[in-house]
Amino acid sequence: MSLRFYDTSARQVRDFTPLREGCASLYLCGATVQAPPHIGHIRSGVNFDILRRWLEYRGYRVVLCRNVTDIDDKIIHVAAAEGVEWWEVAERNQRAFTSAYDILGCLPPTVEPRATGHVPEMIELMHRLIDRGHAYPAGDGSGDVYFDVRSFPGYGELSNQRIEQMRGACDTADDGGKRDPRDFALWKGARPGEPSWDTPWGRGRPGWHLECSAMSTKYLGSSFDIHGGGLDLVFPHHENETAQSKAAGDGFARYWLHNGLLTMSGEKMSKSLGNSLLIPQMVRKVRPVELRYYLAQAHYRSVIDYSDDALYEAAAAYQRIEGFLTRASEVAGTVERAAEVPDAFAEALDDDLGASQALAVVHGLVREGNTAIAEGAKERLAELGGRVRAMLDVLGLDPFSETWSASGSGSGLRDVVDSLVAVALDQRQAARRRKDYVAADAIRDQLLAAGIVVEDTPRGPRWELRRD
Ligand SMILES: [Zn+2]
Repeated sequence: MSLRFYDTSARQVRDFTPLREGCASLYLCGATVQAPPHIGHIRSGVNFDILRRWLEYRGYRVVLCRNVTDIDDKIIHVAAAEGVEWWEVAERNQRAFTSAYDILGCLPPTVEPRATGHVPEMIELMHRLIDRGHAYPAGDGSGDVYFDVRSFPGYGELSNQRIEQMRGACDTADDGGKRDPRDFALWKGARPGEPSWDTPWGRGRPGWHLECSAMSTKYLGSSFDIHGGGLDLVFPHHENETAQSKAAGDGFARYWLHNGLLTMSGEKMSKSLGNSLLIPQMVRKVRPVELRYYLAQAHYRSVIDYSDDALYEAAAAYQRIEGFLTRASEVAGTVERAAEVPDAFAEALDDDLGASQALAVVHGLVREGNTAIAEGAKERLAELGGRVRAMLDVLGLDPFSETWSASGSGSGLRDVVDSLVAVALDQRQAARRRKDYVAADAIRDQLLAAGIVVEDTPRGPRWELRRD
């Protein structure tokens, strides 16, 4: 079976054949940094991190370009409301996004270009479009530059719409200089008090869509393999990106992958709803790895309707896997990650990244593993545990990986705490042996007050950090 993805443009699942053998180039629309991210924003990061990891497992060298939109109407509005510079808002929120991606265990992109660093590339692209008759400077002297949607026969193909049925772009203060209200702004003429850059058509700032075409071409070439983003970006953003680039003569994206949205009670996440789901708040409810599991477990194209209950269920499911691996390493001595994942797991991910089917394979092996623990079958256990770790690694969820063993309590600290708890537990065992249950209970209570839960098992006491 070959690797295949649902391509939004073709509206069907297609076998993945890269432009260059052994390489996969991937452009992902990243953050518009006007506010810190809620989990709806980060879902895309997690979904495409799994795609990247799977491509790498399949032997591809992946070049991932994820942009930052650091100039935009919303950023300018936030800055004006706060009385600070636009770049302060952009910097602050870009840091919040970077931190959120790190917290969720997303590997950093190969390159993370910012829109304002690529104005010359945007001007060059506008020149090409104007020369070919697909763009024009506004007729009203506003300094806007528009894309002429009627000049490009493929306009509407990605989002499967007919041009006659589309509404106006409504992306500039005044549509007066447009030939057709559906023409969209490549460049927005300068307005008083707003940031602007020089162009042959006057000062102004980039339109959102133009940035992504300019940056993807600069880093990935005029044709590249996969363009990703959230489903809400298909129109107008991606439709406009592909129209610009193709009209300018570039091949552009060969596959379009879109992740489903995260809703709350069926509604798209608004700012007020989203505020309750900012990443720092979320990682007080569950651990970061559990939050990643929650976002990763659904198929990337499905809608996730957020609820606390579903989040806690996901956390419990992850703890079952993690608990198995901890016990397996205790019983078998050590559990080394296997070099290869089981076939059923690989088939699930090859088939349009079927993460939920892939996790079903993980849970199946965990059940087998728990039987092996009950039977004390050490070799079998080491083998099953190793396969579970290999699968979790591909999903970025291996609890023994550096990312997660470090984020729990600090990798070095875990050993220190382990030794200290062992001392306390020895004293508790000694108190029990002399039937001093008051002293034994007091030690357990002191550990609990320090955030350490002790569980007595047939193999002796185990501990873990308390989670409230
Ligand atoms: Zn984009």
